[in-house]
Amino acid sequence: MNDAIVIGAGLAGLVATAELADAGKRVIVLDQEPEASFGGQAHWSLGGLFFVDSPEQRRARINDSFELAWQDWLGTAGFDRDEDHWPRKWAEAYVHFCHEEKRDWLYGMGMRWMPSPGWAERGGYDATGPGNSVPRFHLTWGTGPGVLAPFIRRVRAAEQEGLVELRFRHQVDELVVGDGSVTGVRGTVLEPSDAPRGVPSSREATGEFELEGGAVIVTSGGIGANHDMVRRNWPKRLGDPPKRMISGVPDSTDGRMLAITEEAGARIINPDRMWHYTEGIQNWNPIWSNHGIRVIPGPSSLWLDATGKRLPVPLFPGFDTLGTLEHIMKTGHDHTWFVLTQKIIEREFALSGSEQNPDVTGKDLRLIIRSRLLAGATPPVEAFKKHGVDFVVERDLASLVQGMNDVTGGEPALSFEDVEREVVARDREMDHAYSKDAQITAIHGARRYLSDRLTRIAAPHKLLDPDAGPLIALIDAGEPDHDRCRLALERLPLPLLTTWPVFTEAIYLLGRAAGWPGQDALWRMVERRALVLADIEDALVARSADLMRRYNDHPMDLADATLVALAEARDLREIFTLDSDFRTYQLRGKRHLSVIPD
Ligand SMILES: Cc1cc2nc3c(=O)[nH]c(=O)nc-3n(C[C@H](O)[C@H](O)[C@H](O)COP(=O)(O)OP(=O)(O)OC[C@H]3O[C@@H](n4cnc5c(N)ncnc54)[C@H](O)[C@@H]3O)c2cc1C
Repeated sequence: MNDAIVIGAGLAGLVATAELADAGKRVIVLDQEPEASFGGQAHWSLGGLFFVDSPEQRRARINDSFELAWQDWLGTAGFDRDEDHWPRKWAEAYVHFCHEEKRDWLYGMGMRWMPSPGWAERGGYDATGPGNSVPRFHLTWGTGPGVLAPFIRRVRAAEQEGLVELRFRHQVDELVVGDGSVTGVRGTVLEPSDAPRGVPSSREATGEFELEGGAVIVTSGGIGANHDMVRRNWPKRLGDPPKRMISGVPDSTDGRMLAITEEAGARIINPDRMWHYTEGIQNWNPIWSNHGIRVIPGPSSLWLDATGKRLPVPLFPGFDTLGTLEHIMKTGHDHTWFVLTQKIIEREFALSGSEQNPDVTGKDLRLIIRSRLLAGATPPVEAFKKHGVDFVVERDLASLVQGMNDVTGGEPALSFEDVEREVVARDREMDHAYSKDAQITAIHGARRYLSDRLTRIAAPHKLLDPDAGPLIALIDAGEPDHDRCRLALERLPLPLLTTWPVFTEAIYLLGRAAGWPGQDALWRMVERRALVLADIEDALVARSADLMRRYNDHPMDLADATLVALAEARDLREIFTLDSDFRTYQLRGKRHLSVIPD
């Protein structure tokens, strides 16, 4: 007889097996999936680990402690039921483990982490509310596969020694009970499958099996891919479950073992305490059924409900997912919108999952530098922008709202005026480093964490930051870039040269920002010949079309295209702009324009 049977070859099963084998025990590991999916969900995970007062935190000047982490855990868990007695005890022991042992244990097995911890679930309520008071999300070097690797190594070594036997395509259907304890398992042998990792495999049976074990350990994962089960156990306080959901986990996370375990006499507690992410998007390149990817967002995007109303304080991106879920369910709609700019997506959109982070997963420093520190969003984020069905990329707000309505079929219809009101109101709050708007204050606060400021949070800016920026900033003294642009102008030879599409945008935006006096000031620049409007010749038109075609995935707008075409035609070397896109556009001869102010 085996000392133990482990049901599930995911991370939990592998940890249990490795520790049992180290203690000299004989273990059989059973998994319904083929060997290709060895390791379960953890392979796909981002590998963000919870440590308390780690060397990474200390180097980043984060003062964490057991007491603070336990306060945060209590605030998030909200223990308030009799059956919370043991979960509470377990949680306390686990926070101690994360404070005193976990990192050293994993470090000893060769695991390493990115230097600056990320700040997940920022909270936003008071000190005893949910959320992390400090950054604690330690991203593993190698992401999920990097977490799995040492345990796979240990289990494979024990297999070589004859202590561990791995049986794939073995689906457990029953726990055998005798004399009041579980003595073994019965199940179905499934037909061989060549389904690649994570892809659903067949459930066709080819036989049966029965095994006895000194102990039976169920490590069968959660219920996330079983939406019927999620709906059945949906927490009452959240009202009706959503009609549409997407899955962050593979189909093998089917929750089937829970009922099987309960039938054998186990007591399942807190089935309604579930964790859902509200920033999910449909994977344009799915691996498993209904494949959803979670955006791990920075705090700057404007978050609107399905009707165009801003989500209330403190439901900002990445702050409190369960609070946000509760609010969304009350709106009567299943979806929400992030409204953001290219600058925000470049800095603030991290996608969860190992395959969405090939640079860290592949431990490729050069790729990290190329994809994260240079201009543009990471290639996986750009791919979502291009192919993701939930993404709308437009240059002006009216087209954006139109695109949003096209995605939902107008269910419910978003009105341009409603969205514009929220965007403009938010933008008005951006002029100072202080604000009555709690989200803006939170953005400024988060940027005081150096790592966030350098890598994760875009410099605060208006969502309607126009490409015709300097012309507006020069005239509108309320614009944050006013002084910077005036100073730059003093060093520039006049006249400035621009194109009609840029001028048209500037006149439109100045009309909204400053009315006729603003527009008049711009006209006077033209009359004084401080600003010259270039003729649009046929060659410039043709070249603008070429450029827009070339940069269609960016996309490049007409005003930008005419400016680049004009610079080429007149052999100009410098551009006066606030638009970072001009750093990426390449002119003929592989030239780049030098951007002023830099
Ligand atoms: C995209 C993604 C990102 C994530 N990011 C993070 C992160 O950054 N930080 C973090 O802490 N967590 C993260 N997670 C969650 C974490 O990866 C999982 O919680 C963890 O890997 C679960 O491990 P497990 O062993 O409990 O379950 P699983 O990996 O689901 O393994 C369970 C195994 O049991 C098998 N099984 C089930 N029923 C039976 C049966 N009846 N008979 C035989 N076999 C059965 C399944 O086939 C499966 O292989 C992420 C998960 C995903 C998918």
